[in-house]
Amino acid sequence: MDNRGRLFVISGPAGAGKTEIVKKLIEKHPDVKLSVSCTTRAPRPGEVNGVNYHFVSDERFTELVNEGAFYEWAHVHQNRYGTLKSTVQDELAEGHDLILEIDVQGCLQAMAQDDTVTGIFVCPPSRENLERRLRGRGTETEESIRVRLNNVAGEVATAYKYHYVIIHQDWSDVPNALEIAADEAYAIISARRLEIANRRDFLDHLSASLLNQE
Ligand code: 5GP
Repeated sequence: MDNRGRLFVISGPAGAGKTEIVKKLIEKHPDVKLSVSCTTRAPRPGEVNGVNYHFVSDERFTELVNEGAFYEWAHVHQNRYGTLKSTVQDELAEGHDLILEIDVQGCLQAMAQDDTVTGIFVCPPSRENLERRLRGRGTETEESIRVRLNNVAGEVATAYKYHYVIIHQDWSDVPNALEIAADEAYAIISARRLEIANRRDFLDHLSASLLNQE
């Protein structure tokens, strides 16, 4: 059986809940690993270096880019974020299925450079839902809500390039929405594990052993 792990990239608009979904998925299925990225942004209170991110200086990030150390990287909100090739290689070689929870640019890069990467897009259920969440924060002006919704339209337009779409329902409509979304993400991972490409060696071995009994 092929013991290498598989790579999954997951993205979606801010507010669609991708971080919570991935957190729930890992909690329920510790066999799935989450990649720790490098970033130039400052740690937020409670964030731990090496756990949430590898926090690096601008200079160090540039060095890593020049060394070709990144599997993918992107500018997101005035900072740079990237996944190290070594993280991907090590986890997959150990047979772990690895999730990269990264921005849309990073997902598109990963899917373009490797057709074995599975892309998962997390969507809000509706415009109204997203608008309600943005208004609920109470910090956004009408103008900024309009700009954000337009930006989300741009991100949703890229969803057609992914392999799977998870619609993260609102918990007020579907109380176990998070559980359902995490289960759907795990169903995608399970289905990829069961593909014939990962079963050939097993089938060859089984067939040979059955024939030997004659
Ligand atoms: P935050 O600063 O809130 O942790 O993350 C901001 C954005 O950067 C999120 O959309 C997150 O998915 C994205 N991000 C985190 N790590 C990476 C990475 O390694 N590569 C890319 N392309 N985006 C990342």
